[in-house]
Amino acid sequence: MEFEIRKEYPPNIDEIRKVFDLGDRDVLFAWGITLYNPKGNAVPPHLMVHEKVHQMQQREVGVEKWWDRYLKDKDFRLNQEVEAYAYQYQFVKKEVNARTAKTFLFALASDLASPVYGNMIQYGRAESLIRNFRPSYAKDKSGEESKETSLSKE
Ligand SMILES: [Zn+2]
Repeated sequence: MEFEIRKEYPPNIDEIRKVFDLGDRDVLFAWGITLYNPKGNAVPPHLMVHEKVHQMQQREVGVEKWWDRYLKDKDFRLNQEVEAYAYQYQFVKKEVNARTAKTFLFALASDLASPVYGNMIQYGRAESLIRNFRPSYAKDKSGEESKETSLSKE
């Protein structure tokens, strides 16, 4: 599903700011079919991949429920972000050489381990989770989106 991009903050920005130190950062927010892009900068394809994973996650539980849990439950947030970062990493890895992929992974893992997400995780663990994640949105034989989580596998 394509996003409708809006140059504004999402409806729950006050709730988000209570949990995250966004400052004046350039951040994207997936909200169902809408992608909130307050700064209005161009969104590179790999970031679209990341946000589309959140879109799919939200479709499964409902947008407001997803955000509510995302903000309150650190484990859930980590789980959802690892999945999004893993798809983002796999997307870029296919198109670049090994050295560039490694640099990109470093940037992603640093993001995931940063205060933006409330210091959920150490850098080394973030890198390992992103690198070793097994996609769960791959269709299984019956055509259903399989729901296995790969967080525990390393
Ligand atoms: Zn994310």
